[in-house]
Amino acid sequence: MPPHVSPREVDLAIHARYVVPVEPAGVLDHHAVVVDAGRIVAVCPSKDVSAAFAPGTTVDLPTHVLIPGLVNAHAHCAMALFRGVADDVALSRWLEEHIWPREGRHVSPEFVRDGTLLACAEMLAGGITCCNDMYFFPEASAQVFEEVGMRAMVGLPILDFPTAYAADADGCLRAGLVARDRFKHARRLGFSLAPHAPYTVGDASFEKIVTLARELDLPIQTHLQETRSELADALAARGETPLARLDRLGVTGPGFVAIHAVHPGNGDIERLARQGCHVVHCPASNMKLASGAAPVATCLAAGVNVALGTDGAASNNRIDLFGEMRLASLLAKVVSGDATLLAAAEVLRMATLGGARALGFEARIGSLVPGKDADLAAVDFAAAELAPCYDPVSHLVHAAGREHVTDVWIEGERVVERGALRALDPAAIAARAALWRDRIA
Ligand SMILES: [Zn+2]
Repeated sequence: MPPHVSPREVDLAIHARYVVPVEPAGVLDHHAVVVDAGRIVAVCPSKDVSAAFAPGTTVDLPTHVLIPGLVNAHAHCAMALFRGVADDVALSRWLEEHIWPREGRHVSPEFVRDGTLLACAEMLAGGITCCNDMYFFPEASAQVFEEVGMRAMVGLPILDFPTAYAADADGCLRAGLVARDRFKHARRLGFSLAPHAPYTVGDASFEKIVTLARELDLPIQTHLQETRSELADALAARGETPLARLDRLGVTGPGFVAIHAVHPGNGDIERLARQGCHVVHCPASNMKLASGAAPVATCLAAGVNVALGTDGAASNNRIDLFGEMRLASLLAKVVSGDATLLAAAEVLRMATLGGARALGFEARIGSLVPGKDADLAAVDFAAAELAPCYDPVSHLVHAAGREHVTDVWIEGERVVERGALRALDPAAIAARAALWRDRIA
């Protein structure tokens, strides 16, 4: 830049020891991310910042790596209040004997509000800036996301059978659309239709969902083929895989998000790839419920976009994407016998850009590219357990944890500063959770 041009005034420059922008792949040494009006305006060497920019605020992170905020592509946030309520059972018993009865007794807008706050506190502190939620009373969760400043895709839940939320699928759709109407202009929120699963939602409801999705331009997400028995039962009853059925009903397509997809049947991965669908891999939940290991490497090789999710804290029991990144890599290696699968860079991409793509947010988040919103997380590598560092991306997946996250920004707004949540009181949130425990236990 010629010397007579005065530097551009911007809001913020964050200098870090390493910047991992995800796009392009690789690590930048001693770089800065320059932010103005919530957007990234430059990613450049730290030494070049002052010539071109006059930042209002400068943050120095001399031992840190700066990464895109993590995207938790599958969550049931409010279920944080059920954390640890029922361990060591398989999915069908877990749902039918432990979760659904408790949900029937306790779930309310107040429950969803307190549980979603609890999950947001955990996610933000752990570097998660965006989540894809699916739970009852989405108006209550959307309100929390908006207050907290968290970016979220709010899945409007749909089940055919009566719940504390609605009597049937029509009731779910009515309540969901009220929530969407109220928050549809919120800049950090998106909405999708979220039928629970092919085995809890019938053809007639799926047909209504497809009509509505087309009318309102809403994506569709559902749990899909999470267990071997879900696939076997569907094949026995209908002679087609659940995904083939959704395809026949018009549910699948480029906005379709298949959560889990642990047990794809014949032709299912090709179907997902052909239609540009997305898969959300939730390794901890799949392992804990003994559902199996999703064929993630096969999906990626077929060209399917794969994102990472935690699922609800009731089947995890953490809402921790650092944990999921490491598990995803290790699980792919151990089930295949191939140590080359799901390398650290690929897993980090799933937890950031892969998630952003699955939610249709890739133009705004998922990588540190000028023009995108400044959703960032800083991870401090100063601790002894992270020394020495040969490869920061390897460390992010295999050595570091969420406890090393120090600072988080969403749209340029600092929501975590030196390990402390700026707008939330974790002690008060935990105290509310303890009151719920006394009711639920
Ligand atoms: Zn789930």
